[in-house]
Order: sequence, then C-alpha cells, then structure tokens
Amino acid sequence: MTDIPDSPPRAASLRRRELVVDGVRLGITSEAGLIAHGRGEAFDYLLGERTHPFADSALEAASALIRTAVHPVLSVNGNVAALATRELRRLADENPELRFEVNLFHFAEERIRRIVDHLTAAGIKDVLGSSPGSTTRLDGLESARARMDDRGIAQADVVIVPLEDGDRCEALVASGRKVITVDLNPLSRTSQRATVTIVDELTRALPRLADLLSEDRNAPQDELRARTAGFDNARGLAAAERAIRETA
Ligand code: ATP
Ligand code: MG
Repeated sequence: MTDIPDSPPRAASLRRRELVVDGVRLGITSEAGLIAHGRGEAFDYLLGERTHPFADSALEAASALIRTAVHPVLSVNGNVAALATRELRRLADENPELRFEVNLFHFAEERIRRIVDHLTAAGIKDVLGSSPGSTTRLDGLESARARMDDRGIAQADVVIVPLEDGDRCEALVASGRKVITVDLNPLSRTSQRATVTIVDELTRALPRLADLLSEDRNAPQDELRARTAGFDNARGLAAAERAIRETA
C-alpha cells in the first residue's frame, strides 16, 4: 500500500482508495469495482465524509434486525473484502452467529476463492461461497450472483449486502428476506429497495454496527422488534437526499 501522509484533510478517503487499488492488484476486486468506489467517494464528499444522524438511526435498526434474526448472513463482494477486512474480522470475532458468504457481481470462480482465502488469512473462519456443489439459486436473477450457499444465504432470514447491485437486492427482498445495505447513494435502487439502508461509508459504518451489536446482545427481543417496526427507511433516505442537495 502506498504511504499516505496524515496532513491532507481527506487522508482517510485516500487510504480507502489505496485499499481498493490494492484489492485489484491482489485479484480480489474487479476493475469495475474501482468505478463503483469512485461513485461512493463522490457521494461521501457531498455528505461531508461523516456519519449523519439518519445513518445512526439506520444502524440502530440494522442491529435490532440482526439481533432478532435466526440466521443472519453478511454477503461479501470484492470491494467490501478489500476495504473492510479488519472491520469484517471484528464483526466475525464478536458475532459467531453471523455467517460470511462471498458473492460477486463480476462472477469468477477464481476470484471467489481468492476472497475466501483473503478473509480466512485475516482470521475469519468458515467463509462460505466457494463450493458450487452446495448451492441453491435465488429466483429472479439470471447471473451467477443468484448462487446461494446452502449453509448461508439460502437459509438466511436477514442478509447484509453492503455496496450491492439493485437487482440482487430486489431479488433478496422479493424472496421474503430482510435486507440491510450500506450504500452512500440514497437514490440507488439498492437503497430504495432494502429493508434498512445505512447511507454511510462502509468502513465508518461497520465499526458502529459492531458497537451496537454488542450493546444489543442481551436486549429484550420485544424491544428490538419494536425498534425495527418503528424504523422508516424512506424517511432516512429522504433525509440523506436533503443533506446531499444542501451541499451540492
Ligand atoms: P443500483 O444498481 O443499486 O442502482 P448503482 O448501479 O448505482 O446501484 P453499483 O455500482 O451497483 O451502483 O453499486 C455500488 C454502490 O455502492 C453505489 O451506490 C456507491 O455509491 C456505493 N459505494 C461505493 N463505495 C462505497 C463505500 N465505500 N461505502 C458505501 N457505499 C459505497
Ligand atoms: Mg447497479
């Protein structure tokens, strides 16, 4: 990774960019992933590169949804693996009930294996997604992205799909699953379709989610259910759009 001095005000953003570039070099991120990252950077710039109250509310709803889930699974793509290796490791360590499954938009068996190896080397155990023999297909999706591991997303009632494409998010919601996403663009189809949309940068959002999951570990289930029932995703998205339009 190229050394980034601390002096630029946007050093954190530049470091993230380097992580994604390194992801491409390591063969875990696709070249198109660089463009997706650039789109995220633009929205983050307009949001002042900070976590807003609408994101905090969504994070609280997401934590409650995960804590009331029977089988929560986090879907990892090439950008997520490159950007948030450490953050995923912390989530895995603190939440053994949470499974991790690799699923790619630009599907390649070899890259799935490399991501699984990358996460395994980072200390995350039993990463799913690399055994085509034990899979089911998600209805409504044509591509290999429809693949679900029988021990993972196939059984999941709550799926966390950060930086996801709109089609897959929509198909997951249509399958009856609750879907949590992290997406800096409140206008994307993913953001609009998900059950809970966290409009925040991934590596800022995941540590907060880990904190909330710890706080909520022993919270009463009815309190958690009331929190998810009271959450209004459209309202959060409208607040995010206003914040962007006020800056732009
Ligand atoms: P959709 O298909 O949902 O309409 P899209 O085609 O605009 O979305 P994709 O390339 O499918 O976008 O998905 C990438 C999404 O992830 C974009 O909305 C982008 O803003 C967002 N994104 C990229 N990097 C980050 C990041 N680090 N943190 C949070 N969101 C990000
Ligand atoms: Mg898309």
